[in-house]
Amino acid sequence: MNQGALTGSQDVPDHLRELTWKLRSIVGEDNVATDEPMSRHTTFEVGGPADLFVTPDDVDELREAVEACKLANTAFFVLGCGSDLLVSDEGYRGVIIGCTDGLVNVTTDGERIVCQAGVPLREASEMACELGLTGLEFACGIPGSVGGACFMNAGAYDGCVADVLESVWCLLPDGSLRTFSVDEMNMGYRKSRVRDEGLVVLSATFRLREGDQDRIRAKMDDFTRRREEKQPLELPSAGSTFKRPEGHFAGKLITDAGLKGFCVGGAGVSTKHAGFVVNNGGATAADVHAVIEHVQDEVERQFGVRLEPEVRFLG
Ligand SMILES: Cc1cc2nc3c(=O)[nH]c(=O)nc-3n(C[C@H](O)[C@H](O)[C@H](O)COP(=O)(O)OP(=O)(O)OC[C@H]3O[C@@H](n4cnc5c(N)ncnc54)[C@H](O)[C@@H]3O)c2cc1C
Repeated sequence: MNQGALTGSQDVPDHLRELTWKLRSIVGEDNVATDEPMSRHTTFEVGGPADLFVTPDDVDELREAVEACKLANTAFFVLGCGSDLLVSDEGYRGVIIGCTDGLVNVTTDGERIVCQAGVPLREASEMACELGLTGLEFACGIPGSVGGACFMNAGAYDGCVADVLESVWCLLPDGSLRTFSVDEMNMGYRKSRVRDEGLVVLSATFRLREGDQDRIRAKMDDFTRRREEKQPLELPSAGSTFKRPEGHFAGKLITDAGLKGFCVGGAGVSTKHAGFVVNNGGATAADVHAVIEHVQDEVERQFGVRLEPEVRFLG
């Protein structure tokens, strides 16, 4: 996944030569890879190569890298932990900017925890527990970054990011920086202003409450146990593949449609939890797409409900 050395070859496509040179001058030679397989940076473990893969060390580098892509008229995509992403087998034509190597600072101030965008949400949850702060227990099993969690308004069990967010510091499309209060973030079910307006999250401030550490830990342990029991955590996936349709549960509709275990190539509907499409081994993005489309068509044919993917498609 995001950790570890970049693996791409050092051949640079002609039209990206100048931008590559510029990006190397911003983030350093070692933090720019070419032809980087996205299967290494997504929890599905699927996806072809990104032309360029850049890992800024701090906010200034990230901002300059975004600016350089815009000046070069080259598409860019900000990546967190890749836990809600299906990248095509052809990969991504443009620059992937990874946040989880460099933007990982955390500071605390009383009941507040301030996390840079690349901090794993699970780490924030763990830190809150260690500090005896309650509110982030729901996040203990969500394998995304703080940036991705703000983008998606990630949530589980009894909470979601919007419940504990105080403010988010963002890079705007015009290159300016601005802090939004949670009320200005337009957060709803898997939606946010970050998503609507193409903002880049730089850091987020969570406002928690003092709590009893043993109770916080017990709640996290309970959530973890429930996840381990019900979810196919032993196989690569991007979590719940579909959003919850109003008045229904995606997993139940898929089970009732007789699709548990339905496979195309290496991808299939999990036999443990039908809401998850999993990589059973060697899946391509095309396999995953085919499973998703078949599930959508079949559930619609049988129950008149069109399931909407929660997973984001790229490339
Ligand atoms: C086993 C498993 C269980 C899961 N359980 C849950 C769950 O219980 N609840 C839940 O909500 N989700 C769950 N997920 C899905 C996923 O973890 C969340 O949606 C998470 O918030 C995605 O964060 P990420 O960093 O991985 O984002 P990525 O997959 O890297 O990116 C997702 C989107 O966020 C954007 N993004 C990422 N970082 C930034 C940034 N800094 N600024 C702006 N945009 C950014 C990307 O551009 C992209 O559009 C699960 C996934 C898995 C694999």
